[in-house]
Amino acid sequence: MRTQLYIDGQWLDGTGTLEVIDPSDGSVIANVATSSDEQNLAALEAADRVAADWAKTAPRYRAEILRKAFEIMTSEADYIAELISKENGKALPDAKGEVAYAAEFFRWFSEETVRTPGDFRLSPSGDKRILVTHQPIGVSLLITPWNFPAGMATRKIGPAVAAGCTMILKPAGETPLTALHIVDIMERAGLPKGVLNVILPAQTGPAISKLMHDSRLKNLSFTGSTAVGKILLREAADQVIRCSLELGGNAPFVVLDDANIEEAVKGLMLAKMRNGGAACTAANRIYVARSIGDKFIAEFAKAMAALTMGTGRESGITLGASVSMKERNKIAELVDGATSRGAKVHLGAKTPDGAGAFYPATIIEVKKDDEILANEVFGPVAPVVLFDTDEEALALANDTEYGLISYVYSEDLKRGIRFAEAMESGMVAINRGMISDPAAPFGGVKQSGLGREGGFDGIHEFLQTKYIGVEI
Ligand code: NAD
Repeated sequence: MRTQLYIDGQWLDGTGTLEVIDPSDGSVIANVATSSDEQNLAALEAADRVAADWAKTAPRYRAEILRKAFEIMTSEADYIAELISKENGKALPDAKGEVAYAAEFFRWFSEETVRTPGDFRLSPSGDKRILVTHQPIGVSLLITPWNFPAGMATRKIGPAVAAGCTMILKPAGETPLTALHIVDIMERAGLPKGVLNVILPAQTGPAISKLMHDSRLKNLSFTGSTAVGKILLREAADQVIRCSLELGGNAPFVVLDDANIEEAVKGLMLAKMRNGGAACTAANRIYVARSIGDKFIAEFAKAMAALTMGTGRESGITLGASVSMKERNKIAELVDGATSRGAKVHLGAKTPDGAGAFYPATIIEVKKDDEILANEVFGPVAPVVLFDTDEEALALANDTEYGLISYVYSEDLKRGIRFAEAMESGMVAINRGMISDPAAPFGGVKQSGLGREGGFDGIHEFLQTKYIGVEI
C-alpha cells in the first residue's frame, strides 16, 4: 500500500501525516504523508520542467502507456476494489463496478491519443489556407473527490496523458490510498518521471491557491462540490487558468404515468443506490405520476428493503457505510428535518448506533416544496413527490440551480424524448438508471459545471486549439 507523496518520480515522506479511516468501524487504515508548500512547488516545478519534452512524445508512445495501465489495473481489480471499499466504505459490488469503469478511461483514452483531429482547408475568400491544430495546454492540476476515488482520477489522468499534458494530482484526503495506487500503476506502465505528481497538502485551500497563482500552472480539472468549484473559478480568474469543473448534482428521476413500473424501479435502484447514493449522478428527487404512485412506492420499498447494510467488503453486503461520520450525520440531519416537517416515512429514516458511518435505505414522501429537495443528500435516501401532469413534473424537475443529469421513464419514446429535450441538464437517461460511459461526454449545465469528461470531448479539456493562417 502506497502512503507517500509522489514528486518528480520519487516516493517521498511529507512534513506530516493524515489518518485514513475505515468508515465502517472508525479504525485507522493508514497514515498518509501530507505535503509542505515546498513539496507542492517541487511538484509544479517537476511538471513544468518535463512539460515541453512530454508534449513532443509520439501519440503512439503515450497510447501504449495508457493501454498498459488499463491492463495492470484490470489485473489488479480485486485488490483495488477492496482498497476502495476500505477507505470509502462502499459495498464491494459498487467498488468492483468503479474499478471496471475507471480502468476503461485508460483504454478509451489510449485509443483517443492517436486520433486527435486537425483541419487544413482553403478560406472562403480563397486568400489563404486555414490550418487548425491542437496542442497540449501544459501543466494541469487535477483535484478529485472521495466518492469515486479511482474513477475520478483516471477520468482526468487518461485524457491528460493522451493530450500530452503533465500533471499534479490532489486526491481527496478521505480516500488518498486508491489514488496513490493508481499513480503506482502509471509508474509501472512506464510514465516518465515528473509527468504525474501527487500532493496532499495539510491545508488544502491556501496550498491550492498558491498553485493557482503560479504562472507555470495552465489548466485546472476539478471534480467536487459546487461550493468549492466556485472558489476555484474565482481563483482561476487571476491568471485566466482554463477550467474544467465537474460539480454537484440534484438529479430528478421522473416516472410518467405510462412507465413500466418494474423497469422504473430497477432503474431507480441503480440511479439512487449505486455507491450508497453518494454519486453526483444519484437520483435525488423522485417524481412519480400520482395515478401509479402507491404501486410504484410499494415496489420500490420492496427492492430497497432487500438491501443488506454492513461493512462494504464483506460478502453479501449491498449497502456500505458513508465515507465519514460527518457525511453520515449530514444525511441524518436532512432526513430528520424532512420528517419534522411532516414527511411520510415509507422505509428507514432511523440513524443506527455504533461507530460505523451507516445510514439505512430510506424512502420518504415529501411535499413538492420541501427543503430536502434543494439539497444533494449524497446518501441512500429517496424523497418521493407525487405529481399530476407532465408539465408540472417538468417544471419541478427543472426547478434547481443544478443541471448534471436527469432521468425519465415512459413507454412512449416520443414522449420520453420530448421530455428529455426539455430537461435542463447536461445528460438525460431515458428508461435507464445509469448512462455513465467513458465513451460518452459526461458533464453538466447550470451550476453543475463547465466542460466534459470522457467521449470525444474529454481530450479537448487538455488541448488548446491553434489556428495557423498560411499564404500559399
Ligand atoms: P469537495 O468539493 O468538498 O472536495 C473535492 C476536492 O476538492 C477534494 O480533493 C478536496 O480536498 C478539495 N478541496 C476542498 N476545498 C478546496 C479548496 N478550497 N481549494 C481547492 N481544493 C479544495 O467535494 P467532496 O465532498 O469530496 O465530493 C462530493 C461532491 O463532489 C458532491 O457535490 C458531488 O456531486 C461532487 N461530484 C461531482 C462529480 C461530477 O462529475 N460532476 C463527480 C463526483 C462528485
